[in-house]
Amino acid sequence: MKVRVQGRLGISLLGATGSIGETARRVIARHPDRFRIVAMTANRDRAKLAAAAVEWPEARLGLVEPGADPIPSQWCGGRACLVAAATDPDAHIVLNAIVGAAGLEATLAAVGVGKRVALANKESLVVGGALVERAVKAGGGEIIPVDSEHSALLQCLTGRIGGPGPGLHPVQGVRRMVITASGGPFRTWDAARIAAATREDALKHPTWAMGRKITVDSATLVNKALEVIEAHVLFGIPYDRIEVVVHPQSIVHSMVEFDDGSVLAQLGVPSMELPVLYALSHPDRVADAGVPRFDPVASSPLTFEPVRHEAFPALALGVAAGRTGGAAPAVFNAANEVAVSRFLDGSLPFGAIPASIDRALDRLGGMAGKDLSSLLAADAAARSLVQEYR
Ligand code: NAD
Ligand code: MG
Repeated sequence: MKVRVQGRLGISLLGATGSIGETARRVIARHPDRFRIVAMTANRDRAKLAAAAVEWPEARLGLVEPGADPIPSQWCGGRACLVAAATDPDAHIVLNAIVGAAGLEATLAAVGVGKRVALANKESLVVGGALVERAVKAGGGEIIPVDSEHSALLQCLTGRIGGPGPGLHPVQGVRRMVITASGGPFRTWDAARIAAATREDALKHPTWAMGRKITVDSATLVNKALEVIEAHVLFGIPYDRIEVVVHPQSIVHSMVEFDDGSVLAQLGVPSMELPVLYALSHPDRVADAGVPRFDPVASSPLTFEPVRHEAFPALALGVAAGRTGGAAPAVFNAANEVAVSRFLDGSLPFGAIPASIDRALDRLGGMAGKDLSSLLAADAAARSLVQEYR
């Protein structure tokens, strides 16, 4: 969507029933003159999807796992519904809010037919960054990040005369990108206490309300590792020019330092509404009264701390996997997905999440990852390894 289209832009919303999906439906509903939802998908939460369809009666619906009961005949069932929604001819923008590597295929399909992908599903870029870049070049689509840190980085870059427009351009004139991290619920805990943290502890995020998987990823700092890789892929910036700093208030969403030493940051109260809206409107801004107002005095003080790597080993493991390349980031991601789901179902302790990732990378981190089938093979191998982990 390189050219502004007159009239309302069609949006295909993948993962419509999740945390980002709900936020997106709320934001889009505030701008009926500008946007309309043309398709929505969910994994298996049929009741929530049906409720969302009441708000958007014209949207085509897809349910990946319909279960035993038949779904209405006009709904699409199975994994094929994701690619169908991602390539829907009425969609100008595909908002990919699926969680996990399951979102990759839809991202590839959408950019491959020239769509703008407003991407919350960071795992797409972690698992298949090079493939997505190739599909963007071949199909003429573009990726605009929804992740708040990357939205902040893009907004800082877009404000620069001669800066990159929409798309995956290499970043010149940028000395450093500084990605902020809240530090999660265990920011001040020691390593032994973190290793024994309960599910309730891990799901209590201090500043953001999100889906369960990303909430646990924020507690291990796996989320920050995924975001460093995401920034590397999105902006073409080398790993040694990306830094992470802990910022417990989650007000400064990230910063860009330019060659002359100037540092630009983007600020706001922690809400995904603005990053979702910006991903739809970039490089324009849309007047919106819904995003909570920032009050500098009420938000004070803003503080910054270094990452305690000894307490959060997953961050360095993920960045190392990103530097290794090939299938290593896919192995990192898949091992984490399984470890997190096992932690949530009670079959692995919290401390086993980084340990499982470490072990998977040790065994499988050298696997090839030049095409989709080799990446999927590495993903599957890491999943079965961590599934057996005791
Ligand atoms: P969530 O668990 O709340 O929602 C996930 C959505 O994806 C649901 O609609 C679910 O039905 C669907 N889904 C789940 N598994 C699927 C599968 N195998 N195939 C197809 N659809 C599937 O997750 P969320 O918190 O909304 O996060 C979504 C994505 O956005 C993640 O990649 C996350 O890292 C990213 N993100 C989320 C936030 C946030 O505030 N929640 C912030 C930044 C980035
Ligand atoms: Mg983020």
